[in-house]
Amino acid sequence: MIAGRRVDIGAPVVLWFEPGGYDAYRQKPRFSEVGEVGLRYRPGRSGVGLDLAADVASRLEAGTASVGELAEVVDQFVIHYDVCGTSRVCFKVLQDVRSLSVHFLLDLDGTLYQTLDLKEAAWHAAKANGRSVGVEIAQIGAYPPGTALQEDQPLGEWYEDDEAGETRITLPARFDGGHFYRSDPLLKPATNGRITGRLQGQELEQYDFTAAQYETLAHLAAALNRELPGIQLEVPRDGSGEIRSDALSEEEWEAYQGLLGHYHVTERKIDPGPAFNWEGLLRRARELR
Ligand SMILES: [Zn+2]
Repeated sequence: MIAGRRVDIGAPVVLWFEPGGYDAYRQKPRFSEVGEVGLRYRPGRSGVGLDLAADVASRLEAGTASVGELAEVVDQFVIHYDVCGTSRVCFKVLQDVRSLSVHFLLDLDGTLYQTLDLKEAAWHAAKANGRSVGVEIAQIGAYPPGTALQEDQPLGEWYEDDEAGETRITLPARFDGGHFYRSDPLLKPATNGRITGRLQGQELEQYDFTAAQYETLAHLAAALNRELPGIQLEVPRDGSGEIRSDALSEEEWEAYQGLLGHYHVTERKIDPGPAFNWEGLLRRARELR
């Protein structure tokens, strides 16, 4: 849903007002009767740093701008992992505990939940909120090598490698089956085994995302690029064409238009981690586009 208009992205999207959806417009907790009352997002978009016509700026602020006007300010797509494991638990943390928001939640089964119209600024990436669309991909995250492998630690609890080297996701019992939208999800990373890499100068290990998550994400990226062309199908790269493994400088970030990880926005973050397959995502999104 962009500026009040439904857009087909060629993949399943559950909107915030549909059965099974997650509603970030709600000004109260979702799963509890007690908790903070108030906004979880900033209504409308402000044209920070842009020389917009006054009438366009006021329509963006009021949330009455067209898709074309929205495209003048929204030019980044920030990709996160949620360190919660499932979209249901992620929404519970954002909505009920932290009073934060993100436009999309991408669950392990590849279902995409939209919690707010893209005309609103969600609270997911600090300085990037005004100009970005955000997605939280369900995943328990990346850790320094060897530090999270015990059964009571994140990677040890969430993944199991069998003798043939096949990896599967072992959803903890407290997630009550995960409440997935699809009835028979394939709970398995797209790649077997742990993937290591350096981000922000720090060595990390992580399991891959699911194939269903990548496929839906490619459809979303292609649709965002079609509707909001400032969101180019690119990722920050260094002078030799390698994908950046650190945060962009203030000047680089201001000039950048396209997909980026939360770790490209701020040096305090490492998501979506070293396992995230940027090249595969870009290839598939460009193919779909
Ligand atoms: Zn993040």
